[in-house]
Amino acid sequence: MNGFGEAIRSFAVTLWVSRKSRKSFERWQTRALRRWLDRDLPLAPFYGKPARRLGDLPITDKSLLMANFERFNSAGVSADDAWPAAAGDGRLGALTVGASTGTSGNRGLFVISQAEKYRWLGTILAKAIPDLLWRRQRVAVILPQNTGLYDSARQSKRLDLCFFDLTLGPEHWRAALEAFAPTVIIAPPRMLRHLATERFRLSPLRVFSAAETLDPVDRPVIEAFFGQRLDQIYMATEGLFAVTCRQGGLHLAEDSIFFEFEPVGDGLVTPLITAFRRRTQIMARYRMNDLLRLSSSPCRCGSPLRTVDEIVGRMDDAFRLASARGPLLITPDILRNAVLKADRRIDDFRLVQTAPEAVELRLAPDLADDAAQAAFSALRGLFASRQATAVVDLIRAPLPLDIGRKLRRVECRLPAEPAP
Ligand SMILES: [Zn+2]
Repeated sequence: MNGFGEAIRSFAVTLWVSRKSRKSFERWQTRALRRWLDRDLPLAPFYGKPARRLGDLPITDKSLLMANFERFNSAGVSADDAWPAAAGDGRLGALTVGASTGTSGNRGLFVISQAEKYRWLGTILAKAIPDLLWRRQRVAVILPQNTGLYDSARQSKRLDLCFFDLTLGPEHWRAALEAFAPTVIIAPPRMLRHLATERFRLSPLRVFSAAETLDPVDRPVIEAFFGQRLDQIYMATEGLFAVTCRQGGLHLAEDSIFFEFEPVGDGLVTPLITAFRRRTQIMARYRMNDLLRLSSSPCRCGSPLRTVDEIVGRMDDAFRLASARGPLLITPDILRNAVLKADRRIDDFRLVQTAPEAVELRLAPDLADDAAQAAFSALRGLFASRQATAVVDLIRAPLPLDIGRKLRRVECRLPAEPAP
């Protein structure tokens, strides 16, 4: 089957599955997972044989996967082969490889086949803009690097897709973006916010936040500027995980991923993912670093796919403090809310744990002093209420747009804890 055939088939399957009842969906998913465990999982040398049950397999994570890259893919691609290709045009023979933009030492690699690339495209279109495809759309993708994922769509009849390199900076391509006049924009929230504050001349029909956690503080700024609801495409090196539906529900991509959830307290979970429609890079019970709050009720759009209320941030950005009652973990959402709720005038900040007992709060110099003091006091109050030992340092400094790295307003810079 050629690429477009694969994309169209995947588009159709995605829509078909979204109309099933939950019960019938679960039957379909169980069968698909079973087939994958029998037929595809053994292709990776790390596994080598079918698994009787998913739960029999070990939990995996990024460090294990990266240290044994060639044993987790069926194409025999080693990390040494993949890195140079990822740094170049992303092509390695007939395969596409790419890397995440994380800090060095913490970057993830992926490898997918041509068919998987087109399948991914069909899936994302079916989830994000199925209702718009009756006429040709101009889609602008503003992301750190063109991983080759988007090449597949460039010449299609329904889509005109244009990639803008985030790392070059918006001044480099502002004129080209405005001339392209995208009807759909996909970009990290900090870039969408920059488009808004710099008043780019754009009038998209739909705007998606992608590649970074969407902080609630950015949403109103972006929505007010574009006059559109801000939707989300939650994806990472590891794949596509969730997309907002037309009713505003953020649906997990359970039609390609089987999710297990590990509770971490405060109603939050971290997912273990099994990508049961991929057969080049095999990912089973892979522990994600993200913190999710699952919704308790189904979405009114009728899709059987579960929804999440919020992607809260990353587990490794939780602050790890000492307290009178022993080690304490405070998740990014609690820290963020303490700062934002302290004063309505605060619409940006950085909060970094720099040492086991030291926390830095950065606020822009033009924020009123009493607002800054309120945030400072709120944080001290939060730590005191949990009997945590932490010294908060308030720093007044500009918070410029950083195109070189992902924006994390709450960040823990302690060395990673050894895996449990
Ligand atoms: Zn929905």
